[in-house]
Parts: sequence; C-alpha cells; structure tokens
Amino acid sequence: MPSIKDITNYLEQLAPLAYQESYDNAGLIVGSPQTTVSGVLITLDCTEEIIHEAIKRDCNLIVAHHPIVFKGLKRFNGKNYVERAVMLAIKNDIAIYATHTNLDSVKGGVNFMIAEKLGLENVKILSPKKQILKKLVTFVPTENAPKLLEALHEAGAGQIGEYKNCSFSVEGTGRFTPSGNANPVIGTLNEAEEVIENRIEVIFDAHQEFKIIKVLKSAHPYEEVAYYVSVLENENQEVGSGVVATLAESLSEIDFLTMLKSKMALKVIRHTPLLGKEIKKVALCGGAGGFLLKDAISQGADVFITADYKYHEFFDAENQIIICDIGHYESEVYTKELIVRYLSEKFSNFAVLKSQVNTNPVQYF
Ligand SMILES: [Zn+2]
Repeated sequence: MPSIKDITNYLEQLAPLAYQESYDNAGLIVGSPQTTVSGVLITLDCTEEIIHEAIKRDCNLIVAHHPIVFKGLKRFNGKNYVERAVMLAIKNDIAIYATHTNLDSVKGGVNFMIAEKLGLENVKILSPKKQILKKLVTFVPTENAPKLLEALHEAGAGQIGEYKNCSFSVEGTGRFTPSGNANPVIGTLNEAEEVIENRIEVIFDAHQEFKIIKVLKSAHPYEEVAYYVSVLENENQEVGSGVVATLAESLSEIDFLTMLKSKMALKVIRHTPLLGKEIKKVALCGGAGGFLLKDAISQGADVFITADYKYHEFFDAENQIIICDIGHYESEVYTKELIVRYLSEKFSNFAVLKSQVNTNPVQYF
C-alpha cells in the first residue's frame, strides 16, 4: 500500500511546492509522510466537518486545495475553527495536505480545469512567472558530452514546453594544471594540460537545481567539475497565474453570461456594465484574481472571470473589459474533481473520494 509520501511526491511532480506564493502554506500540514494510506478524501477546504467525513469514510489523508493553517499556531485550545480542525485531525490520525497556489500556477491546474469546464480553447498562462528558470553552463571533454547531456536531461534539464532534451554546445579548449593531491582523469601532476571540451548550456526549473548539480557531478568524468549556474530573467511560459483562452465561437454578452452561469452552476454573477460587444477571448483566475486585471486587459480579453472583487475594484474595468465575479468557492469547486482525476489515474489500490460536503461559507438569500 502506498504511503502518504508516495501520494504527495506524485502531486508535487504535477504541482511543485516551489511554485507556491510566499504567503502560502501548501504541503503536508498534519501527519507523517511514512504513514500508509487507507483512503484519500479530496476537498476544497479542510474544516472539522471534512475531518468527520474522512473518519466516516475511512480516509486517513485529506487533500485540500486551501491550507487549513496559513500562519503559525501558538496554542491548541480549540478556540477557533483552525485550532479545532488541527486538533481533531491529530487525535484521529488524519493527515492533511494542501496543494494551493502551486496547483493554481501549473498547466493542467485549477485554472485549466475552469477553462475545460467552460469548453475554452488555446488555453495559455495569463501571467507567466519570472525568475524561476536557471541556466547551467559546464565544460566536458567532447567524447563525454553525449553521456553527460543524457544524464542532465534525465534529471530534468533542457525540458522547455513541448520541446524535450534542449541544449546548446560549442567546442573549445579547456586548460588546467593538476597540483597538490589532485588525481586527474586527464593529465599529469604539475603539467599544464589542454583538452578539447564542449561548453554545454541547458536551462532548468530553479527548484530542480540540487538534483541537477548532483547529477552533473556524478556523470561528469572530472574530479573538479567546472560549471556555473545563473538565474534567468525570462518568463517561464509553463508556470504562472490565471489563464487566457478563446471560445470556439464568439457569443453575445448575454449568451456568454448564460453559458457561464450554467456551466459553473452559479446562483449569481456580479459583473461590470456590458459593453455591447461579442465575447471571444476570456481571461480567468480561480479565487481572488483581481491582481491580474491589467494582464487580462493587455491580452485583449473581452471578459475576466474571477472572484473576491470589492466594490471600488469593479471601477477598474474602465469599459475595457467585463469583470465577472462568480464567487470564490464556485470558481474553484471543480478543483476537487481535478485532484480526484489525477490521483485515480495514478493509484488504484486505495479509494480516492470526493468530499460530499459543501464548505462554502458564503450563502445567497
Ligand atoms: Zn481559493
């Protein structure tokens, strides 16, 4: 039977924890990674009611979108719902894991799921993340270059979007003099050496650095490996906030709102004034995505779907776009379906259950 670690490792391949925002607390919040999993309950929020549901349905791991704990807890007296939920989980050996802004940021994540629900096409990241790509430059004897490259690619270097095993190399002369206690693969102690080497360049995701440098050192023939790593300013098109996509066929504003309401099962849409234009391009971000409005406008989106908009923020639409606030819970509820789908595809030896509890704290009268 798989352990919690097997499941969280898999979820982190899909949505690496390194992609979470600085305020976030995604990851294993309660429980030990070594525990064997009896069943997994998938939820948007991890409230006490959800923990009771997990106990009843024999699941000792809860995978939630929103982390129950954001800030440090200093006391466990059951004074608020966060303390009570954590205490109840620990008492009953229930582990709690959250995949939050990291799952928001990846292809195939929360926002791609909303786009899928709406039947959108050409789905792309709306605001790609910067400074999460690094570049490795290393020097290796020409005959050893193919094997080294193979090992680096295997470790994840040089994988860019739909292009696999990308690298650049150029041949030149490497010079060194082994001294002291050196034990050189090529050359003799205290004698200047020249070797025809390849300068190899590959880019990689910053969070893979430890693994890639380890592989570099073990797959490189030299005792001292010459290399350097630099941070790139480039955007990573594969990772970021929100998505922008197109409708298969443009719709009138009323038809679009009707479609949105029905496909996302909404009771209400709070929106800015209609502009009398056809809707073709759609930007969206599950949860509180107001910070992406400028990106949505600059990408030429006709409509921006998100949640948690405040009164004054609606004015920022400036008749350039229609902001649709569909509710935080409503925008993200299909994340449950998404996580169930990923886990059921990969694991078949325990139950992956979707929570039946509606955790939405917002009611409409
Ligand atoms: Zn959320």
